[in-house]
This record gives sequence, structure tokens and C-alpha cells, in this order.
Amino acid sequence: MFGHRKKHDVDSYSITGVLRPVEVPEEQQPVIRARQLQTVGRLTPIVGLANVINAAVVVMSFWNTPAARLLGIWSVTLLAATAVMLGANIASRNKHKKRDPRTPPSVIGTQKGIERYARFSSLLGMIWGVLPLLVMPFTDYNSQMTVSIIMAGMMFGGVILISRIPEAALSFLIPITIGYIVGLQLWQDPRNDYLSVLALVYAGVLWVTTKWSHRQFIEQHLSGLAIQQQAQLIGLLLRDFEESTSDWLWQTDANGTLVDIPMPTLGEKGSSFQAMAKGGDIGSLFLPTDTKNTLMRCLERKQGFRDLVLNVDNEDGAWWSLTGKPIYDTVGRFIGFRGVASDITQSKAIEDRIAYMAHYDPLTGLPNRACLHEQLEKIALTPVEEGNERALLWLDLDNFKWVNDTLGHPAGDELLCQVASRLNEHIGSAEIIARLGGDEFAILVEMHGRDALLDCIQNLSDRLNEPYEIWGSIVHCGASIGVRIVEQHSMDIDTLLKHADLALYQAKESGKRTWCVFTPELAEKAKARRGIELDLHRALENEELTLYFQPQMCAHTGRIVGCETLIRWNHPSRGLIGPNNFIQHAEDSGIITRLGDWALREALFAARRLPDDMGISVNISPLQIHSSSLVTTIVNALAVNQIDPSRLELEITESVLMSDTEFTLDRLNQLKDIGVRIALDDFGTGFSSLNYLRRFPFDKLKIDKSFVEDIDHNDDSRAITQATLELARALNMTCTAEGVETESQKQFLTEIGCDELQGFMISRPQPLEKLSHLFPVLTQQEADEALATKRASGDADTSVIQLQDAANRRHRRMG
Ligand code: C2E
Ligand code: CA
Ligand code: CA
Repeated sequence: MFGHRKKHDVDSYSITGVLRPVEVPEEQQPVIRARQLQTVGRLTPIVGLANVINAAVVVMSFWNTPAARLLGIWSVTLLAATAVMLGANIASRNKHKKRDPRTPPSVIGTQKGIERYARFSSLLGMIWGVLPLLVMPFTDYNSQMTVSIIMAGMMFGGVILISRIPEAALSFLIPITIGYIVGLQLWQDPRNDYLSVLALVYAGVLWVTTKWSHRQFIEQHLSGLAIQQQAQLIGLLLRDFEESTSDWLWQTDANGTLVDIPMPTLGEKGSSFQAMAKGGDIGSLFLPTDTKNTLMRCLERKQGFRDLVLNVDNEDGAWWSLTGKPIYDTVGRFIGFRGVASDITQSKAIEDRIAYMAHYDPLTGLPNRACLHEQLEKIALTPVEEGNERALLWLDLDNFKWVNDTLGHPAGDELLCQVASRLNEHIGSAEIIARLGGDEFAILVEMHGRDALLDCIQNLSDRLNEPYEIWGSIVHCGASIGVRIVEQHSMDIDTLLKHADLALYQAKESGKRTWCVFTPELAEKAKARRGIELDLHRALENEELTLYFQPQMCAHTGRIVGCETLIRWNHPSRGLIGPNNFIQHAEDSGIITRLGDWALREALFAARRLPDDMGISVNISPLQIHSSSLVTTIVNALAVNQIDPSRLELEITESVLMSDTEFTLDRLNQLKDIGVRIALDDFGTGFSSLNYLRRFPFDKLKIDKSFVEDIDHNDDSRAITQATLELARALNMTCTAEGVETESQKQFLTEIGCDELQGFMISRPQPLEKLSHLFPVLTQQEADEALATKRASGDADTSVIQLQDAANRRHRRMG
């Protein structure tokens, strides 16, 4: 395109370029011809007038010469030709007026028009060309000069007037030039030779000029056409843009006043468009915001701007996106701004909603974890004010899961909302109160002095531990709080949160419903805990775990009726470790299910070495109840070792029943269906125990050793023990007392009718081999032989299929 253009430019300025015809697209040829005819047609009266005036001058100049008679004939001929020409012109004008302006000019019509004009021109040219032949022979040199002037004038005037049609100009020029030169040559004056040459030069100049002007005319026409087509295209595009989007164009003058857009008229639609109607000040359309300030700055500095999101000052509270740039006139003067606007109210609302959801908890309306992080990062940059103390609190509800499970999720939600409002009421001055998810919250507070800060935390803890009222029921749900005092303003946020979490863990460890401040020792402890977790995995692989057995004695007969299995860890470097040092970690890390399965298999394997009428008790942790492997493990271990299910007793604590009660009860019933016995361990240390006792038929109650310990010197403990015993009897359960260490304890318990006793007084937990003085213990080999005999004799009635069937019956109901 560029190359083409260049060639074109060069052509226009060289003689050869001027003479070469311009290429005109075929469909444009009649249009151009029509315009040529139109222009020349308008000039025709002048041409006619010029002819008449010139003819009059000639006749008057040479009336007294011998040529007068011939001149008479000549002028009549000229006038007649002129009259015919004018007549034809008037006729064609009338025809043109009647024509529908929208119909395109005809190819043949225009062609004929041009030809006709050329014929007329050549006729006139010939008439004028005859003049020198008539006049020159009868006049003197001076008069010949007059003829020359008239001829030159005719040549120039005529050609210029009809130059729009080069064919006509040429048809006129040729005969008139020939006539003039021949006329000059008829009179044998050497001076006339010069004039003849001059006439030829004139003719040449006129011819080139005509061609050049014609070329310019065609080029102008074509470029005008291109511009027109472009404008049409832009118009179409703009219309399409207006109709298909919610965008519109705007323009201001140099003062920022909205003006009409100089564009093909676009459909005016929507109130947004109306709001930008001309006359208004663009700045006054929007409510004051930071972005509006940016807009005003750009307008003032004559800078372009892009996608500014502005709040429109109208009752709908619309939002527009505005893009604009300064515009300048041809001489570079600033004349205003022009740009596009679009109504983004809807998408902005959606965007705002998404942003809100990404940063706020929909239930409580508090900032969420992501928001907390962002804000902490901001606040971490501002130093704590002199004398102030800042602390990050991590808060966790103690019984939330229980509320959710027993009262339902809507109640749980209600509880969370109440907690949120207590937090807001109590420390509304906090810099951040966020909900981290579930029943966890985080708070950043700043107080004047450490004492004020700790007082505030204590008060908050007290307030949160007060009972809640949810739809008429009183709910006790305390909170544990981990506190991290923020010392340096530039502390890493992740570390801060981790420390607060460790302090929270400590608060839970110290019995919940309390708060705890982070100390470096907590981090050390946590590290040790993590070490234990890793070690436990290894311990299971390396068979470092072992079971100890503690006998349970019938209080009436003194016979050993069963054993409780208690896990021990034979640590390669730390020696024998008791379960209190690792069971909690195993539960926290989830490895407890593997560990518990191992304990069950190991206990039932050992049970083979005990007399058939002796029971074996295994401790089950809350997480194990939810494990899908529990039932399968028990069924398989019972079958493999041919142990009668009634010999196996599972010891669970009340905490098992606190979470997801329905599921737990179903699972326990499923185990009972197999024939396994269930004992409630550590009875009296949990809470609301009676409720559970009614809902699930335990086989045994184990009175916690803390009561037994106090029997000798605490009346209350004796009363509680006795009451528990009566309760067990009323509910048809056996009762075992744990931690029996003294003769007097044994005596009291036997007297009040306790069924079984367990404690150091009878025996400490020991490896099985070391208990053979209390009951017969088979060697492994003897046990294996006994099992083989049992299988051979067909006595073996504990099959996997049978047990699984029993378990499945319940399972189907659970499903
Ligand atoms: P627990 O089920 O209440 O077990 C009884 C605890 O009391 C045992 O502690 C036992 O050694 C101790 N004990 C027994 N008689 C006396 C006594 O006369 N005086 C005193 N002071 N203590 C006595 P141990 O073996 O340290 O076990 C602690 C806890 O670890 C158990 O409490 C049980 O909850 C848990 N545990 C033990 N083995 C397992 C296991 O295989 N799985 C699970 N999940 N937990 C286990
Ligand atoms: Ca136990
Ligand atoms: Ca116990």
C-alpha cells in the first residue's frame, strides 16, 4: 500500500506521469463522467456568453474591412452553434433535474454526453479556426495583432472553461490552433512565423495543463470516495458497537464541558447516555472518590486515562468505566477530551461480592483467614506505640463439635454467631477480629501496658466461658485461647500464628476453658512432640511396642477373671515409655488407628495363652471408633485366634461418646452384635455421664482410680463410689474398681459389693510370662498346639463369616 502510494506521488509530479491516463475503476467511470459533464454544463452559459462577446468584438473590429460580408456569415454561424449548444445544455439540465439523484449515472448516457460535448467543442473550434482565414488576408499588421489576441484569448479561455472534459478541450484546441497558424502563414510576414511557434507552444502548454488538471480532478474524486467509504465503514462499526455493547462515546470541549460527538449519529439509548448529554461538566457527573481525583488530575494535565472506575452521582448509584484521551485540532491546539464510557454497575456488583466473599466469613461477617493475613502484614509494618503491648490471640471453642453433633448444625452456626458478637462486644477496640474457619477465631489487640492486656484477655476468657443460650437451651461451651505477645513490629506473621497455635495447644492441655501465653519452652515441647510422632512410625515398623497385662480379680472369689492390656514402648534410647507419654501424640497425628489395630491383634494373639474363661480388655481411643478398619480387625483377630467374642472387652471413655453420637452408638451396637463386651472406662471423670449410660447398654463400668485413691480419707469419694456401684447394679452392669492399692480400699470395695478389683495391690501391669503365679499361662508353643487341636476337633465355632455376618446385619441398618 505504502509502495503504491509512493509511485503514485512521483507520477503526479513528472511530465510523463501527468500525461499518462489515471486508472479509474470501471464502476467509477460513469460517475466521473457525470461530474465532468455537470461542471462543464454549469460553465456552458459563460462559454456561450464569451463566444457572443468575442464574436461581437470581432464583427465590430472588422466591420469596415472587405471581410465584413464573410464575417456576417461567420458570426451568424457562430451564434447558431452557440444557441444550439445552449439549448442542448438547458435540455440536459432539465433532464438532470427530473432524474432521481440516487440512481447511478448511466454508462452509455455519460459516454454520449462527453462525445456530444467534444463534437460541439470541435465545431466551435473550427468556427473560431476559420476566423483568421477570413480576416487575416484583408487587414494590416495591427489588425492581425487584434486577431492574434482574440485567438490566444479564445484558446486559453475556451480550453480553461472546458478543461474538465479533456476530450472536448482537445477537440476545441486543435482546429482553433490549426486555423490560427494557417491564417498567420497565409500572410507572408516573417514576424508571423514567431507567432505561429508561440501558438504551438500555447497549445502544448494548454494541453499539458488540461491533462494535469484532469488528473488532479480524478485523484481528488477517488480519494474523496475512499474517505467517504471509510466514514461509512466507521459509521457502521460505531453503530454496531453502540447497539451490541453497553458502551458509548463521549467528548468534551477544552473546558471539560460535554459536547456532541462529531460522528455519524449513533442510536441514543439508555439513561447512561442521557447522563452524558451535552452541556454538562464531566467532573460533576461523579461522586468524589480517589479515582475521581485521578480523573480530574488527568483532565487538568491533559493526560489520557484508561478504565477509570467511577461512581456516578445519581440515585441508582451506577458505576462507569471511563477511558479518554486529549484531542487536538489541525494546528495542534487542545480542544478537549474524547473517549469511551461503559456502564459496569452489574459486573462491579459481582466483583465486589466476590471480593467480599474472598475476605469475609459469610456466617459471622468477620474477616476470614486470608483477610487476617493481609491485615496482619499491613499492621506488622507499623511499630507498637510507646508503652503499648500488642498480642495475637488464637481462640478455639472447647465443645463445639459436641454442640454441632447433639444440637445440630444450625445450633452450631448460632453458637458461632454468638461467640462472634461476644468478641465484638468485649474487645471491639481490637485491631482485627477474624474467624479462621470451624470454631477458630483470631484477634489482634493492643493495650496500654502488659497488665491491661492480660486483664483484657482474662475478662475475655471469662466472658466466653459463660453459658450460651441457644433456642431455649443452655449450652456450656468454653474457649481455649493461645496468646502470642508481639514484641517486634517486623515479626514474621507465619511464626506469630504458629506460636499462638502452640499456646492454644497448651491451653487445651491445661484443661481447656483457659488461656496461655506463648513461651519458647512451648516451641521446644512442640518440637519434641513432632519427634515422638516420627519415632512412633518407626516404632511400629521396628516392633518396639509391646503389651503389658494387668489382672482383674473377682472381689467375691479372689479369682483372676481377666486382664487389661496396657501398651508400652520399648524405646531404643529412652527405655520403657508409658502410654501417657505418647498416646495423645498418636491421637493428634492420626497414627493411633494403626497403633490401636496393632494392640487389638496383639491382645487377641496373647489371649490364646490364657485360660478360656478369662477375659481380655483392650483400650480403644475415640478416633479408632471412627476408623473403618476397627470392625474388620476385631473380626479377623477373633477368628484367627479362635477367641470367643464374649471374652473380648473394649474399654472406651466418655469422650468417645461426645462426638458424633449417633454414629458412635451405631458402631458400638455393631460391636455388641458380634458379641464383644463394652466397658465404660474412667467413669466419673467426664461429664453428663448419666445421659450416655441411658442411651447405651454398657456391660461394665470402671470406677476411676481417682475415687478409689481417696476412699480411705474422703467421705465424698466413698459416697460417689457407692452411688456409682448402685447405679451400675440398677442398670445391670458389672462394676470394676481401678487403682486398688491398699487392703482397706479392697475391703471397702468388697463390702459395698464391687464385682471386680484392679490395681497394684493385685498386680502391676506386667508382661504375660511374669503373671503365671496368678493364673495358668501357656507358652506360645502350647497355645499353638491347643489352637490346632481345637480346629481339628471341630470345636472351632468362631468363624470370620459368622462374625462378619453379625457385624454386617448392623452395618446394613447403619447404611
Ligand atoms: P487406663 O485405661 O485408665 O489404664 C489404667 C492405668 O492405671 C494404667 O496406666 C495402669 O498402669 C494404671 N494403674 C493400674 N493400677 C494402678 C494402681 O493401683 N495405682 C496407680 N496409680 N495406677 C494404676 P498406664 O498403663 O500408664 O496407661 C495409661 C493410659 O493409657 C490408660 O489408662 C489408657 O487410657 C491408655 N492406654 C494404655 N494402653 C492403651 C492402648 O493400647 N490403647 C489406647 N488407646 N490407650 C491405651
Ligand atoms: Ca482402661
Ligand atoms: Ca481407667
